[in-house]
Amino acid sequence: MKERILLCLAHMSGKEMDFIKEAFADNWVVPMGPNVTGFEKDLEAFVNKREGLPALEKKVVCLSAGTAAVHLALIACGVGYGDEVLVQSFTFCASSHPITYLGATPVFIDSEKESWNMDPDLLEEAIKDRIAKTGKKPKAIIPVALYGMPYRIDRIMEIANRYEIPVIEDGAEGFGSNFNGQALGTFGEYGVLSFNGNKMITTSGGGALICPDADKAREILWYATQARESYPYYQHEAIGYNYRMSNICAGIGRGQMTIVDEHIAHHKHVQELYCELLKDVPGITMHTNPGAEYDSNFWLCTATLDPELRIKNQENAYKQVITGAVGGAAGVTHASTCATTDCQPNDNVEALRMALDSAGIESRPLWKPMHKQPVYRNAPAYTNGVSEALFKVGICLPAGPWVTDEHVRYIAEQIKANII
Ligand SMILES: *Cc1c(COP(=O)(O)O)cnc(C)c1O
Repeated sequence: MKERILLCLAHMSGKEMDFIKEAFADNWVVPMGPNVTGFEKDLEAFVNKREGLPALEKKVVCLSAGTAAVHLALIACGVGYGDEVLVQSFTFCASSHPITYLGATPVFIDSEKESWNMDPDLLEEAIKDRIAKTGKKPKAIIPVALYGMPYRIDRIMEIANRYEIPVIEDGAEGFGSNFNGQALGTFGEYGVLSFNGNKMITTSGGGALICPDADKAREILWYATQARESYPYYQHEAIGYNYRMSNICAGIGRGQMTIVDEHIAHHKHVQELYCELLKDVPGITMHTNPGAEYDSNFWLCTATLDPELRIKNQENAYKQVITGAVGGAAGVTHASTCATTDCQPNDNVEALRMALDSAGIESRPLWKPMHKQPVYRNAPAYTNGVSEALFKVGICLPAGPWVTDEHVRYIAEQIKANII
């Protein structure tokens, strides 16, 4: 392969520039305007449709990032200093960091084996235990659709409703995923979407919050535009944020919405091809939809490696300190002085990652659970060992519109060639 095969790379429809040019022509180069409104309408139409049922009536507010969407959803749920929020531990830090921005404490919930997402039994155990220990109910519940896989939202909603705790769905990776024919992000009180450069669709950077109704959406919009009161001068009675999406970025989003269905279909096709090509390889298991209710967008395709599987060069895993950052953070990381931590993927996973890397293929470990992150060492956690075990055996493989059938065949061959 001449070109490097990346995990998930943005792919333009060609329509993006038309929307951007319009914004320039009309001098709408600000964080509002026709592209923002148009993109919100497109997103509403997309998330509100349901198989065989009347459409929902959710409202969408476009924001500068998915992280901003999590932050504002927490504020709208009344999360403040000293509160607790129940959040899936197995996730990217953007699900939990905004809790700390508010002076609240994340309480981490481990995953179930089937979906890899929030374990509903542990969730209920945690709710009861937090009430017993603190005398207060947690303020919100955040399940996360890892790699696009739906969480067990029917059970999570049943528990959340019983305890009257709002659910903020982190569907940042799950745009286009459904549970029982309904879009992720539309079951809970709020739903988070991300349009970062590597997500299902991109606005270069951006996000959105799915809101239950027009009033709630207006409130989010108000917080996202510095919480201004209606006076001829700037009058502030609450703390707001500068979180609105720019009209230029929204133009990219509108262009992306013209090909979103093709993108999703392609991710699913790539997943199927991996499954077919790797089905007879002992020690490698693709993560697939665990039941008929689940419809993952397969944002990234993921596999697990049997700990017994031997990979070439495994004895050299973790011998060198890595320079540069995971996730294309353009080298914006602190330098590490030690090549290992007390919780890391198994040597065979790291050896496979290195082997694929030398073959021009980007792969990546699964998210490291938040309850194993040093920065959260003091946060309460309700664990069952599932996310930690998955982190040690899992690997993310390239997916997305740039990944061709030929690429998938090449990746599968490289995986097989590196098994001893
Ligand atoms: C990408 C992502 C977000 C939001 O990210 P932004 O980069 O701020 O748009 C939130 N949660 C998860 C799980 C994500 O993967």
